[in-house]
Amino acid sequence: MSKPKVAVIWNASCGGCDESLVDIEDKIIDLADKVDFVLWPCAMDFKYNDVAAMKDGEIDITLVNGGIQNSGQEKIVKLLREKSKIIVAYGSCAWLGGVPSLINLKNKKDSFAVNYLDCPSVINPGKKVPMAKSMADGYELELPEIFDTLYTLDDVIDVDYYLPGCPPMPAMIINALGELLGGKLPPKGTILSPDISLCLSCSRNGTKPDRMVMGEIQRIHEIIADPDQCFLNQDVLCMGPATRDGCGYPCITGNMPCTGCMGPMKNQDQGAKMISALGGIIDGYDEEAVDRILDGIPDPAGTFYRYSTAASYLGRRREKNR
Ligand code: SF4
Ligand code: SF4
Repeated sequence: MSKPKVAVIWNASCGGCDESLVDIEDKIIDLADKVDFVLWPCAMDFKYNDVAAMKDGEIDITLVNGGIQNSGQEKIVKLLREKSKIIVAYGSCAWLGGVPSLINLKNKKDSFAVNYLDCPSVINPGKKVPMAKSMADGYELELPEIFDTLYTLDDVIDVDYYLPGCPPMPAMIINALGELLGGKLPPKGTILSPDISLCLSCSRNGTKPDRMVMGEIQRIHEIIADPDQCFLNQDVLCMGPATRDGCGYPCITGNMPCTGCMGPMKNQDQGAKMISALGGIIDGYDEEAVDRILDGIPDPAGTFYRYSTAASYLGRRREKNR
């Protein structure tokens, strides 16, 4: 009997999602036994032409990580959509835009200026920036066109399931692949982790007082954190109230506050939810006091929307399925 065919592709992301597949340790050997990888550019040498030659729907599951930021990424995910029965937005970048989508607060021109022109370590006397077409030694070269906006995967193609995390945790990956490969398909559109806040499973939740009050906001390196107390009760911002459960809270266990990588709960805007949670506990009776407390957050957009700018109220809005 032929094995299920699986593809993995990496777009605008750091590579951690590809790495996370290897982090499932010896289970990767079981997985490699059970499936045929037909595309995994990070690990194996397949050609896109091999994928183009497949029948529509021939790939059983494609795991797509990263948002879509250039025309090359758009082309390959559209091809994979045609060739795949199931598309999984793998990791928070594919689902919500992730950290790279903070660029949506700026634009392509600003990004090129930082990366190719103004950065002190860059030497670029010709002031050249990437172009879709350019000439070199009489030959025309073509590169993918970089978009002005970073798109979530479901802005570009139809997505069947979402696996959150930056990157997804090993236990979540094993469960999700077990379900999908075993044919136990949840309803289309399911986010494959519990739709409750991280606080509800966090070991420190019971230490929250009946009435929580934050008189200031401190950064984690400014205090010696009590390893058992809720971070919010220690005046340290923790994104737990606005973050989806399912990771097993490794950061909290390591005495670091949650930064929100599992993304929001269903139909919530993660930043707005956290701002609303803070609004209820900040101890400021006038505008000046509130401003002073909020000044303790040096980068509000990067704090509240670190993993979700492209999909948030803040991110540039755009038409679906462009
Ligand atoms: S705010 Fe953070 S530390 Fe406190 S209960 Fe929620 S996840 Fe745990
Ligand atoms: S505790 Fe927060 S930042 Fe850490 S893995 Fe879980 S969701 Fe991500």
